Amino acid sequence: MIVTEQKPFEEVLQSLQGHTKVFIVGCGSCATAWHTGGEREVKEMAARLTEQGKTITGWMVVEETCDERKTKRDSRAHAAEITEADAILSMACGAGSQVVALTHDSKPLLPALNAMFLARLQRLNLADERCVLCGDCILAQTGGICPVATCPKELMNGPCGGYRDGKCEVDPQRDCSWVLIYQRLQRLGQIEDIQAIHTPKDQSKRKHPRNVAKALPTPDAAPSPVHHH
Ligand code: SF4
Ligand code: SF4
Repeated sequence: MIVTEQKPFEEVLQSLQGHTKVFIVGCGSCATAWHTGGEREVKEMAARLTEQGKTITGWMVVEETCDERKTKRDSRAHAAEITEADAILSMACGAGSQVVALTHDSKPLLPALNAMFLARLQRLNLADERCVLCGDCILAQTGGICPVATCPKELMNGPCGGYRDGKCEVDPQRDCSWVLIYQRLQRLGQIEDIQAIHTPKDQSKRKHPRNVAKALPTPDAAPSPVHHH
């Protein structure tokens, strides 16, 4: 899940200065699950902005705002409300917000959220960073625990000399990632893997911007159903 946080309301208001009529876009995926930009939060935002004298021309929560086809489709259903607006306020992550901006080229796009990180959702209100999308996954060698995302020093070979009683020197509240990796490899009977020296990561796979066009499976390539006689 992409973790987002709501910007302080004052900042949102500031960014809307000079714009009276506002259309709000939420996201039905991560921002709904994390309660930052789902239907409830969009309606709350609409109410607060109305109190501040703004006119909300309409709102929509796209199933996945980052999916351009869905944002375009839902935008058509709200075309009149969007045309009437001076600006669009996005309550999606940065990718979703840019889809909204590019879909509505003539309207200023103001973000109401800050996109923060890619996380494991542990509980409804608890998430932690798990993957920095490095483009070259090494979980096979690290017991399924990512040191790139969870060790503050991004050490490929650890632990560093600073860990104490299994805790990280950078943040003693946290378990040292490399101690966790060691323990997990031990449980898996793969403790010899800890001896391997991992080469530095190929950072070129992380350079921005990244994009991809992939071949879609053709109907012919789909596995044919198995018939039992
Ligand atoms: S090694 Fe890279 S791709 Fe794999 S979990 Fe860590 S950051 Fe993500
Ligand atoms: S103590 Fe562990 S998690 Fe913290 S920086 Fe060192 S190796 Fe990384």
